[in-house]
Amino acid sequence: MLTPLLILLSCEMFLGDSGNDETGAKDGNDETGDVTETGDTEEEPEPEWSYSGETGPEHWGELSEEWSACGEGTQQSPVDITQADIELGSGTPPALSWSTTELNAYNPGYYLRYDVDPGSTMTVEGQQYDLVQFHFHGLSEHTVIGEHTDIEIHFVHTGKDDPTKLAVVAIFAGADAEDGVAGLFDEGGALRFREAIALPESHEPESLGTSVNLGEVFSFAEGSDALTYSGSLTTPPCTEGVQFYLVGTLLPMLPDDVAAFHALFDYNYRPTQPLNGRKLNMLSPATE
Ligand SMILES: [Zn+2]
Repeated sequence: MLTPLLILLSCEMFLGDSGNDETGAKDGNDETGDVTETGDTEEEPEPEWSYSGETGPEHWGELSEEWSACGEGTQQSPVDITQADIELGSGTPPALSWSTTELNAYNPGYYLRYDVDPGSTMTVEGQQYDLVQFHFHGLSEHTVIGEHTDIEIHFVHTGKDDPTKLAVVAIFAGADAEDGVAGLFDEGGALRFREAIALPESHEPESLGTSVNLGEVFSFAEGSDALTYSGSLTTPPCTEGVQFYLVGTLLPMLPDDVAAFHALFDYNYRPTQPLNGRKLNMLSPATE
């Protein structure tokens, strides 16, 4: 179930240098959901939401006036990806300049998030962004021809000049018994993943007492193709104008780590939303 993404994204017919290029996110949001508590202090009690039942994704738009985009938006995320929706983009994938950060993990009960120290940036289409946090969804939120991967990691960036401008780099991960990455997610691994998911439920980040160089850990993302499109936060308030960059190389994880994650966070993904005519632009690294 992991191969479709790779096949689709590495397919010869999508590599090339024509077509047009969609430009960036439009406006921002008040950063609930995917970008909660990244430094903003807006703290009004908001309705409970979840991934199932009466507070599940089908009802998010009804739970608060401010969340109407969840129900009525036309440029929502995530989306299902098929070949017919892909066009060749003229740009190159984001240049990632992620650096060393302390691991500040927290588990608000419905996902696992790490807040990132200042200093990690990315540049795309001449715009600079700061990495503020990354978090995990399981199964993946975006699908390829209806297929999920085991985990999708969202690296949330805000515009350096305009912090309301959001860009999310999505990395897909899946269990791979033969090539699963050791030393990253396993016991004592670079991300202290097992310790992080064992944290008690909290809305405060907790330092795990170690640092990690994100640029090294995720260096594979740099040379990879990416698909980009304009979407939304995938949690309330589902604000639109979020530019997604879906990395076309799958990160293999040890099956035990995926199982540990799913034991706690299974099904914290939003169902796919209609594209409504949007296309995904294929960005390939510049060749010399
Ligand atoms: Zn997310």
